[in-house]
Amino acid sequence: MEKTNLKSLTLTQMEEFIKQLGEPVYRAKQIFKWIYKGQTEFEKMTDLSKDLIARLKDCAYVGKIDIYKKYESEIDETTKYVFALEDGQMVESVKMKYSFGTTACISSQVGCSMGCAFCASTEGGMVRNLAWWEMADEVIAIEKDSNVKISRVVVMGSGEPLLNYDELIQFLRILNSPLAFNISYRRLTVSTCGIVPKIIRLAEEGLPITLAVSLHAPNDDIRSSLMPINERYPILQLLDACKYYIMKTKRRITFEYILISDINDTEQCACELSNLLKDLLCHVNLIPLNPVEGKKFKKSDDSRIRKFEQILLNNGISATVRREMGSDINAACGQLRRSLLVR
Ligand code: SF4
Repeated sequence: MEKTNLKSLTLTQMEEFIKQLGEPVYRAKQIFKWIYKGQTEFEKMTDLSKDLIARLKDCAYVGKIDIYKKYESEIDETTKYVFALEDGQMVESVKMKYSFGTTACISSQVGCSMGCAFCASTEGGMVRNLAWWEMADEVIAIEKDSNVKISRVVVMGSGEPLLNYDELIQFLRILNSPLAFNISYRRLTVSTCGIVPKIIRLAEEGLPITLAVSLHAPNDDIRSSLMPINERYPILQLLDACKYYIMKTKRRITFEYILISDINDTEQCACELSNLLKDLLCHVNLIPLNPVEGKKFKKSDDSRIRKFEQILLNNGISATVRREMGSDINAACGQLRRSLLVR
């Protein structure tokens, strides 16, 4: 008989499973809590009876992803993880320490099909979606390894989360569950390259999370040259979906804008961007490019970055330059996995 992976069960499903074993339902909560404390061995779930432990071992297991490699920054407390999944695939996650708590950046797919020109995660395409429990296990594994409670999660690693929609939503619910991670929805961020129908669906989901939209350009010409998705959902369509999201959730949207030298970092681009976003409840995160080996793009110099930010601010657009974390382990998203795969 194939064993059931208890980590892949929601609490309701766990209760059903426990009932089928003829055990009292409260056992499900006990096991559920142990799983989210990072425990994978039934013997160490100390409030379970010996008999139940023996029966669980016969028919169930607690799935887990393993740390394959870990890179710790020596200049700040950023850690990058490469996790090996049960089928041998690999994904990256990052732990970042801020004054307000510790954030985990989580991958939602192995690879990515979106083809953004500046991104390493998309080289080799999308291999598969992650199951919600694998995303949850990225957080569990980081907490267990670092002995730190994660207080914010950003789904911004490899993959387009909205193309793995159902698993993403279940992952967000488990992050929020008091018996699992107990993180407020307001501390959860989902990033998208702009899948318009899914933004609209997410707006109707009723989850007060933060939506981060990877914009990276102030017009369709530049955006299409960087992000193939723009051919399908051009900027004005994307912004309409963003307005709908703001209207439904009353949440401010974050626009991510990677600054690439001489491509999208000119004063004209900053002015165009200001025009595009005026009157929108939003914040712009300006991100200095983290160059990917083999790609032609260069990082903007600091004075350009500051000038760009200033133009947005002068035009009444809320904007900040994202602090570079772990610059000594500065492999951009997807680069670590790729470098390990080609070895
Ligand atoms: S930037 Fe995001 S959406 Fe674009 S290819 Fe990379 S992982 Fe995919």
